[in-house]
Amino acid sequence: MTENKCNICPRKCNIDRNAKKGYCGETDAVRVARAALHQWEEPCISGTRGSGTVFFSGCNMKCVYCQNRVISEGKVGMQISANRLAEIFCELMNQGAHNINMVTPTHFTVQIIEAIKLSRSKDMNLPIVWNTSGYETTETIEMLKGYVDVYLTDFKYMDSATSKKYSFCPDYPQVAKEALSAMVRQTGKVELDENGIIKKGVVVRHLLLPGHVEESMRVLEYLHSEYGDDVYISIMSQFTPNGHLEKYPEIDRKVTKYEYDKLVNYADDIGIVNAYVQDGSAAKESFIPDFDYTGLL
Ligand code: SF4
Repeated sequence: MTENKCNICPRKCNIDRNAKKGYCGETDAVRVARAALHQWEEPCISGTRGSGTVFFSGCNMKCVYCQNRVISEGKVGMQISANRLAEIFCELMNQGAHNINMVTPTHFTVQIIEAIKLSRSKDMNLPIVWNTSGYETTETIEMLKGYVDVYLTDFKYMDSATSKKYSFCPDYPQVAKEALSAMVRQTGKVELDENGIIKKGVVVRHLLLPGHVEESMRVLEYLHSEYGDDVYISIMSQFTPNGHLEKYPEIDRKVTKYEYDKLVNYADDIGIVNAYVQDGSAAKESFIPDFDYTGLL
């Protein structure tokens, strides 16, 4: 086991993951559902050739509206050794990936660091992207120093009541603020290469929830007032009801064009320059890849 008592994320289960699963639903054995080039991240991540994306099984959030339930609930996942994971990083590099993109990696932080070290010894030289919910401890962000180049992090909620209701973590706003601060301190401001591909820095994603424009405005206001143009902000409209929202009828619909336009106009009004916005087609299923173990064997 990588550590006897797992407190790697703010859930702080304090359990031995050799013996049992934590809130994230995973033991210490790394499980992966897919590793392939992915075109659907932000342009500075996907570029022209794609991001070398590794989808890990399990999740420390378990949002009620999750689009990737099949992996966040751990129904799909192949056990992978650190050595095989390092090989996969190299294979993605050889396929032309611009970077190696760890999706929902937090609960496997220690094991992934080991794989990154192994891949570096095999001459894997791509930037590492940490694609996270933002629900991270500052200690874990500190552990990633020297291994991660780009944080692609969510900032989901500004209100504790919302994060409690939809993601079972009332402390999310405060935790995410502290984690984001640690990320920006570590990487500095966004740097792009000559082709517009990110080399280092932080891209913050915010997904607009139906009926939550006002809270989203406060998220954008916070991000802009704290970080100005040092981070890129991705304002996402792709919320799609997942068929499991009977207990949450207020969000059991898509975001309207009016809601999204209102948020994007607000971002413009307060002077956010480095922003990505989505068009209406973003809510299509094409953003959800097949979790069919591509790239693992
Ligand atoms: S990584 Fe998993 S087991 Fe560890 S503290 Fe977080 S939820 Fe609990």
